[in-house]
Amino acid sequence: MDKIRMSMPVVEMDGDEMTRVLWKWCKEILLLPFVELKTAYFDLSIQNRDLTDDEVTARAANACLKYGVGVKCATITLNKQREEEFGLKRLYPSPNATIRAIMDGTVFRAPITVNGIAPLVPTWKKPIVIARHAYGDMYKAVEIATDGGDAVIACGGEKRTVFDFGEKSGILLAQHNTDESIESFATSCFEYALSQGYNLWFSAKDTVSKIYDHRFKEIFQRIYDEKYVELFKRRGIEYFYTLIDDAVARVMRSQGGFVWALKNYDGDVMSDMVATAFGSLAMMTSVLVSPSGAFEYEAAHGTVTRHFRRYQQGEETSTNSVATIFAWTGALKKRGELDGNERLVEFADDMERSVLSTIESGYMTGDLAGIFHLDGVRVNKLDSKGFLCAVAKTYRELKERK
Ligand code: NAP
Ligand code: MG
Repeated sequence: MDKIRMSMPVVEMDGDEMTRVLWKWCKEILLLPFVELKTAYFDLSIQNRDLTDDEVTARAANACLKYGVGVKCATITLNKQREEEFGLKRLYPSPNATIRAIMDGTVFRAPITVNGIAPLVPTWKKPIVIARHAYGDMYKAVEIATDGGDAVIACGGEKRTVFDFGEKSGILLAQHNTDESIESFATSCFEYALSQGYNLWFSAKDTVSKIYDHRFKEIFQRIYDEKYVELFKRRGIEYFYTLIDDAVARVMRSQGGFVWALKNYDGDVMSDMVATAFGSLAMMTSVLVSPSGAFEYEAAHGTVTRHFRRYQQGEETSTNSVATIFAWTGALKKRGELDGNERLVEFADDMERSVLSTIESGYMTGDLAGIFHLDGVRVNKLDSKGFLCAVAKTYRELKERK
């Protein structure tokens, strides 16, 4: 087979621990044999972030904006314990938070569904895509632990008492968001729903948060009325706002097949629940869409530290690479679409099909082996590399049949 050429690079962001190992194997086994991979490479491992005073992260995010497509490996988010483990100069912020802040995007997380792995919620027949606003709120909050006194919030000419602690100790937190960021969040959600042909739900708590959450609701409605009512009608889809409590109840009774837009924290938490209910966190992809139309793809799970410890001991691991593979195929497909490179798009589609059909024919990693049931299919648990090799074999067979 002659290799597929690329005219423009994708931004490649390498990461940490077990996912860094999978990253290398995924390229060696599934990509490099078939594609003349063109990437702008950034090493976001914790060691290199420390070496570059974390400048590498900002450079990578800016490269994503420049080239329009990026793919990122999972990275360690630091805490005190990790800082000591690696003997770092300081506690760097989460790379994902840095990238999200620079790209000002919305994160869409969609489950990878496969025959044989039934969602824990029996009514769910189609994917539920979580759209998480990736800016502000708790993630950019200012917090104070106080031994007492008068807590005041002030901005411009306005000043309000939050709480008078008196002599009591306590805690407080101030959150913010900007209309501009909420507007681009809403626009990304409407665009994504249109592109997928999915209904769009947005939920928040405007009955309690009468100014803050209300602003989100208002902006979504205004943009919908101004720009999307007709487009949605023509596509046969709808948008509605509902209280987050009501949304949670409806989601559990739904059939799936919609985009659920959520504020930053709600999206963080709900996406973990939805991912687990669809089978596994390792079967969830994530794409950050910036308002300027740049895309950054990644797996939704972390660096799988527990498996990495075993790998370091020379033990066998059975770590699921599906979300990592789909991050790559998502990025290559988008690159192909933007550049009019049909062979690259076809490659990405065929590779995704090969992943699913490998699993459906009974070959999978340990996390799936325990939950997979398909009549007449015997389950074979493979190790991390064995699974990648099985996918490559399926891909080659598929190409031969074509
Ligand atoms: P994690 O890496 O997602 O792993 C938690 C557990 O989930 C694993 O121990 C494993 O369970 C299971 N799991 C996750 N992904 C799997 C896969 N691909 N295949 C098989 N099993 C998988 O979360 P964590 O251990 O809490 O975090 C580890 C590091 O990742 C932390 O430093 C965290 O900051 C970072 N993190 C990064 C990102 C990101 O870059 N986007 C996201 C989340 C966390 P078993 O051990 O039971 O098999
Ligand atoms: Mg989370």
